[in-house]
This record gives sequence, structure tokens and C-alpha cells, in this order.
Amino acid sequence: MAEKFKCLQCGLCCLGIGSIVKMDKQISRYGFIVKNDVVREIHQALITPEYRDIFENDHSVQEQHPSACYFVRRLPNSKYVCTIHPYRLLICDSYHCCTARINKDGKEVGKIKGRFSLVTKDGELTKIWHENIMASPKDPSHDVIATTLRKHGYSILFYDESDGSDNNL
Ligand code: SF4
Ligand code: SF4
Repeated sequence: MAEKFKCLQCGLCCLGIGSIVKMDKQISRYGFIVKNDVVREIHQALITPEYRDIFENDHSVQEQHPSACYFVRRLPNSKYVCTIHPYRLLICDSYHCCTARINKDGKEVGKIKGRFSLVTKDGELTKIWHENIMASPKDPSHDVIATTLRKHGYSILFYDESDGSDNNL
């Protein structure tokens, strides 16, 4: 069975979404109305106790990324967190930045978005993807993709798209 999607807390998905996911109103010291400005989803959110200090005292993410969501913060270990994680909107809950991750020599070198969109800076991987995997007239199965990549020293982890519960952001 495929693994569950694992968010790496790189923050990318929350750094440019501030024009959609918005703080609508502050209703108490840690209570807010949060809304999706596009589909009009709206509800109350509370800053989770463990992140209250960083939420109030560290606005560096928003200073450096003016399009960032109001509620994202960066921890001292450089991981990003959603300070309203239990109350976040559907758009946040269902967001998966990728459906598979590709590794080589212990490092992530590429991702698959959607079904077959490769995102990578690795020229060799790009070549293999287009010439050995996507050149077939039929959609390649996960097995075909994994076997082909393995021959060239890459490994791939596909995620179960039905479950995003490990997403920390
Ligand atoms: S879902 Fe997680 S890993 Fe993907 S872009 Fe957002 S923070 Fe990064
Ligand atoms: S997950 Fe949290 S921090 Fe990220 S966009 Fe959604 S509400 Fe903002």
C-alpha cells in the first residue's frame, strides 16, 4: 500500500497564499475569524497554546514574505508551522504539494505533482522521465515508474492521495 503523504514543513504552500486564506477579524487575544476569500469558507480559529508565544512575538515570516498567510510561523529549527492547525480551512487540509517524491543518494531530487508532472532540477532525471517513462503511449503504472527509476539509481515514494492527515501545515 502507498505511504501517507508526509509534509516536510518547508512552508512553501503557506508563503504565497495570503490573498486567499485571510484573517478576517480578531475576536479575542488568541481567537480569530479565518476565511477562504475565494470560496467564502469562514470559521473561528484559536491559536494553539504551544504556538502562542511565537505567534505574538515573531512576524519575520510575514515581513520577509508579504504574501504569506497571517498564521504561519517559522520555528527555530527552520520548520514552518500553522499556528491554527486544528482549525485550518479545507483548502489547507486537502493541500498536497506532491503525489510522489523521488530520491537519489539519500537526497530528494524531484517530486511528482498531480499524476505525471515531474518537478526537478536534475537534468538526468528529466531525461529519463521523458524518454524512458512518459514516451510509452500508455500511462505508466507505479511499478513501471519505480522499476525504471531504480535502474538509474533513483527511488520513488508514492503517496496515498486519500489521506493527508500527516500534513503538519
Ligand atoms: S505541504 Fe508541506 S511539504 Fe508540501 S509545500 Fe506545503 S509545507 Fe512544504
Ligand atoms: S495551513 Fe495554516 S498557515 Fe498554512 S495557509 Fe492554512 S491557515 Fe495559513
